Amino acid sequence: METTEVVIAGGGPTGLMLAVELRLAEVDVVLLDGLPERTGESRAGGLHARTMEILDQRGLLDDLIARGRVMQAGHFGALPLDFSDFDTRHPHMLAVLQSVVERELDHQATELGAPVRWASPVAGFTQDANGIDVEVGGPDGTRRIRAKYLVGCDGGRSTVRKLAGIGFTGTDATMTGMLADVELAEPPAEPFFGRRRGAGDFSAVQFEPGWYRLVVQRHDLVMPRGATLTFEEFRDHFREIAGTDFGMHSPRWVTHYGDASRQAERYREGRVFLAGDAAHIHYPAGGQGQNLGVQDAVNLGWKLAIALRGNDFDEVLNTYESERLAVGARVLHNTRAQTAAQRPGAHAEALRDILGDLIDLDVVRHRLGLMITALDIRYDTKGDHPLAGRRVPDGDLSAAGGETRVYELLRSARPILLRLNGNRIPSVDGWQDRVDVVDALARDERWAVPGVGDIAVPAAVLIRPDGYVAWVSDEFGAEGLPEALGTWFGPAV
Ligand SMILES: Cc1cc2nc3c(=O)[nH]c(=O)nc-3n(C[C@H](O)[C@H](O)[C@H](O)COP(=O)(O)OP(=O)(O)OC[C@H]3O[C@@H](n4cnc5c(N)ncnc54)[C@H](O)[C@@H]3O)c2cc1C
Repeated sequence: METTEVVIAGGGPTGLMLAVELRLAEVDVVLLDGLPERTGESRAGGLHARTMEILDQRGLLDDLIARGRVMQAGHFGALPLDFSDFDTRHPHMLAVLQSVVERELDHQATELGAPVRWASPVAGFTQDANGIDVEVGGPDGTRRIRAKYLVGCDGGRSTVRKLAGIGFTGTDATMTGMLADVELAEPPAEPFFGRRRGAGDFSAVQFEPGWYRLVVQRHDLVMPRGATLTFEEFRDHFREIAGTDFGMHSPRWVTHYGDASRQAERYREGRVFLAGDAAHIHYPAGGQGQNLGVQDAVNLGWKLAIALRGNDFDEVLNTYESERLAVGARVLHNTRAQTAAQRPGAHAEALRDILGDLIDLDVVRHRLGLMITALDIRYDTKGDHPLAGRRVPDGDLSAAGGETRVYELLRSARPILLRLNGNRIPSVDGWQDRVDVVDALARDERWAVPGVGDIAVPAAVLIRPDGYVAWVSDEFGAEGLPEALGTWFGPAV
């Protein structure tokens, strides 16, 4: 029987990102997908700031920026949200097709030794104290792979979730979104055009020269899952809401979706984990789903690696659920609020008027925008320092190798103890195999932290491979450092 350390079910953005993370940590991975090949379809059309930062941490962002379009397209319930004064190197959205993101991640996973095995659906598993036997179907019959862990990144209808007996609870669809990628004979004047009309909204976004993504939302209709939608039907719905069809023709893809919102009741069942759409589905309001899945993967990857390398150090794995379930729940919550605010009628109109006024206040715009971009996430890593548990800022540094940035230090996905401005005191004795120590001078006196403001650059910061702060000190001392190392990276050796 084939053996490996981690089996990933699902070669979408979540499974691909997880494969990259695990291979960077030199974990053996088998990445399976039930489809015969990649479809090339793109549900998602954009990345938010925190996902861009994470991809930057792994050196994967520049290619995507070259193939995408930087734009201020953020919104909350179709009320524009400007991110341009947010404290990040990427205070905007990146309009880039999901298929392009998948191609980039696929290339990286393959380079690192974990290509997707197509036509290989996970069909069953049995777990025991030492590992898990994963049953894989396919044209050549069923085979088994023995692993330590199985991660279901197999989308909203996740087989892994169902086989693990994990409930998927939430609310049913109340409306329908319809999408068509088309060419337009009479395009609108603006490349990003959206309006609200009668029983719905519509938008036309130019994704690449020559073709547009048209979306129409109907609040007076719930299309059953699996129902077909032809191009002609889409055109009729669009015309009815928009009053025009912009001369649409040559459809590449037509689909529909609803606002059902569901979340897995647990993200872990023994040796089985869920990530991405397998763990949560919601309406694509604000474009958050793919971002959420990629960030789930980056949260889980290093923890699986540490658990595998830390002499079966298992505790860190439970923090995956405690950290990411809350983040997922918040996205479901905000997408429900957004669809409610987009309903037709006088009540929603009044709500939108008030919300629109409030968004003009910087404090409201920041609160909503930081939530949508996920720049404000704070995990419980103990300590009341403003950086504790937050993403580390991407400060400019001078280090032994020359000028660098904090995120460039994270390229190899290793934990880092960053000692700044001459601080030599804290060390990682007992964890030196698991944590790298980097000494550097910060080129600024203060770092800007989203949702917090400017803070003095600390004396030392222990950075998890996902870029979140596990321990931080303004003193040239190591108080609390051994405890933080033990919590996150296992017992000292
Ligand atoms: C219209 C629309 C617009 C959207 N726009 C955005 C946006 O702008 N921004 C954003 O962030 N998100 C957006 N999303 C959401 C985003 O597309 C999803 O959240 C994202 O695709 C989830 O990625 P995933 O890898 O978790 O799951 P998926 O992309 O669903 O991938 C799951 C994979 O698992 C495979 N699989 C299924 N069963 C098995 C099995 N038994 N064994 C092995 N493999 C299996 C499937 O073949 C598939 O390849 C949008 C969604 C929709 C519907």
